[in-house]
Amino acid sequence: MVTCLKLGDVRIHRIIEQEAPFFELKAFFPALTDEVLEENLSWLQPKHVDPTTGKLVLCIQSYLVQTPHHTILIDSCVGNGKARPARPFWHMMTSDRFERGLAATGVHVNQIDYVMCTHLHVDHVGWNTRLENGRWVPTFPNAKYLFADRELAFWTERHKDQPEACPWISDSVLPIVEAKRFELVKSNHSLSELVHLVPTPGHTIDHYSVRVGKVGADAFITGDMVHSPLQMRYPELGMMSDFSSDQAGQTRRVVFTQLSDTPTVVCTGHFPSPSVGRITRWDNGFRFLEN
Ligand SMILES: [Zn+2]
Repeated sequence: MVTCLKLGDVRIHRIIEQEAPFFELKAFFPALTDEVLEENLSWLQPKHVDPTTGKLVLCIQSYLVQTPHHTILIDSCVGNGKARPARPFWHMMTSDRFERGLAATGVHVNQIDYVMCTHLHVDHVGWNTRLENGRWVPTFPNAKYLFADRELAFWTERHKDQPEACPWISDSVLPIVEAKRFELVKSNHSLSELVHLVPTPGHTIDHYSVRVGKVGADAFITGDMVHSPLQMRYPELGMMSDFSSDQAGQTRRVVFTQLSDTPTVVCTGHFPSPSVGRITRWDNGFRFLEN
């Protein structure tokens, strides 16, 4: 499924790789209490929490942004043929869904100018590379891949110490570095007057989100600064792979305060379809109003 959003001269497409119940809710949100869960299950089920398994439903997707000047892929899902023994549902995937989704936008892999990885986790870097004659090569041969400088430094170091703990760095990040297709940027980098990175640290050390379009007709592509609307209602609720849940919570509160009750379209990384909407206040937190 591909949906297209038009904001002035900017078009935004979703490219979905997977959408399914993936994680045990209380493992995913370690600080979630039974009481809070109970209070929210009525609106979380069945869309966000699968009633049969109790697992959190997530969409794994990329956003393709077309401006008059650039074609940009934001995040690159899990990818095919990659060994992920710790995550059976992402292990050695053979799906053609991502490639079909990209083809449906009419954009060819050669036409991507930039690949932006909001952060360097397994489900955001996968299609950076593909296997060719036994080697991992850039999937988007003409693209520059934008990595936040402190994010790449952190994961390069982690990979040196414990390569088996982050196999995606071996097959989906370092080959881009070796092929010299990357560009190191600050997480507040501006690509053009229509595309700005916004630092949203906490989930990872130097995570960024991306703001596109002109003020009044813009979108905020979150990456993983938020995983579920439950973290909008409770911005301080951390998730299991956070670098710093405290910092991630502060980031959410600041960003949601800025975005709430504005026309800015919020394009989330992992919310179930349609994944896109606006933010309004809800008690001491925020509510996601789907498009
Ligand atoms: Zn993610």
